[in-house]
Amino acid sequence: MVNPAAHPALTGLDALEHAGLTDPARRAALDQVAAEFRVRISPAMAGVASTGVRAQFVPDVRELQVLSEELADPIGDDAHRPVPGLTHRYPDRAILHATQTCEVYCRFCFRRETVGETGTLAEAEFLQVLAYLRATPAVREVIFTGGDPLVLSARRLGSMLDRLEALGTLDLVRFHTRVPVVAPEKVSAALVAALDRALPVWVVLHVNHADELTGDAAAALRRLNRAGVPLLSQTVLLRGVNAEVGVLEHLFRTLIRHRVKPYYLHHPDLAKGTGHFRVTLAEGQEIMAALRGRLTGIAQPLYVLDIPGGHGKVPVGPGYLRCAGEGWVVTDPQGREHSYRDL
Ligand SMILES: *Cc1c(COP(=O)(O)O)cnc(C)c1O
Ligand code: SF4
Repeated sequence: MVNPAAHPALTGLDALEHAGLTDPARRAALDQVAAEFRVRISPAMAGVASTGVRAQFVPDVRELQVLSEELADPIGDDAHRPVPGLTHRYPDRAILHATQTCEVYCRFCFRRETVGETGTLAEAEFLQVLAYLRATPAVREVIFTGGDPLVLSARRLGSMLDRLEALGTLDLVRFHTRVPVVAPEKVSAALVAALDRALPVWVVLHVNHADELTGDAAAALRRLNRAGVPLLSQTVLLRGVNAEVGVLEHLFRTLIRHRVKPYYLHHPDLAKGTGHFRVTLAEGQEIMAALRGRLTGIAQPLYVLDIPGGHGKVPVGPGYLRCAGEGWVVTDPQGREHSYRDL
C-alpha cells in the first residue's frame, strides 16, 4: 500500500516547489496559473518520477496562453441540465456530477474551470435527481463523474447506489474515475463492498500513461475485478504525455494485463490554456492506424471527439471504407486497398 509518509500529497505551489517539481525563477507566472487552475498531486503520483506522469500534473506557464477557440464548458455539459448535478444529453443515460473534488488536478482537464474543493452534491439535490429519474424511466444508466466520484466516502456512495438500485429502472451504474490509479489506497474493502451489488457497477478508469499503473494501482484494480466490477479505460491523447504509437501500445497492453479493456481514446478538448497538449486529428488518426493490426483487438480503444458545444461524442477514424462508383474501397491494416461490392 501507498505509504503516505513516503510521499505526502502536494497541494499548492509551495509544496511542488519544495519537492523540486517547479522552477522558483518561474514562480510569479506559476502563481498566475495556480490562481486560475488548482494544483494538487496525490501521494501515489508524487512517487512516480516519469515525464509522462509529471507533465499531466505539474503546472506549466503555457497554461496562461488562452486561445480564442478555447471554451469554459468545452463539451457543453451545462446545455443539457434538467436538475442541478445531472447532465442528460442522450436518451438512455445521464451523467451525475457527484462532487467537483479530485485527488489530482490534471493540467488538461476539460472541467478545469469547475473542479475544486467545493461542490459535493447535496442530499437535497440528490433527491431531485432521484425524482427526475423516477419520472424519466428512459434513463437506464447513471454515470457518476465529477470531479472524481470515488473521492466520496463508501458510506455516501453506498447510500446513493442503494436508492438508484431501488428505482428499478437502471441496467447499470458507471463510474468515471482516476482514483484506483492516482489514489489506490482509497479502493478500500468498504468501497469495494459498496460497489459489489445486484445492480451492475462498471468502472471506467481514466489513465494516460503506463507509468501511472504502479503495483498499488494494479492491486486496487484486482480488488475491483474480484468484486465483479467490469473495468474499462479512457485515455486522453496528449502531446508530451502519450501521443506516440509506442507509448500508447505499451499503455493499452499494460491495461489488458490488468484486466482493463481500453474503451475510448479522447481527442483533447478545447479547455482553456491546454493548447500545448493538443495534437491534430490527423496525428491521432495516424497513431490509431498504426495500432490497428499491430495490437490485439481487445486492446484497441475507439478514437472519439466530443464535438464542441455539446453536440455529442463521435468516432473520428481513421476511416477504412470509402465509396467508389457502384461499390466500395476498403483499406486493410497495411494500407493496401481492396474493392468490395454489396450484393
Ligand atoms: C460522454 C458522455 C456520456 C457517455 O457516453 P458513452 O458513449 O456511453 O460513454 C453520456 N452523457 C454525456 C453528456 C457525455 O458527455
Ligand atoms: S475531473 Fe478527472 S481529468 Fe479533471 S482534474 Fe479531476 S481527475 Fe483530472
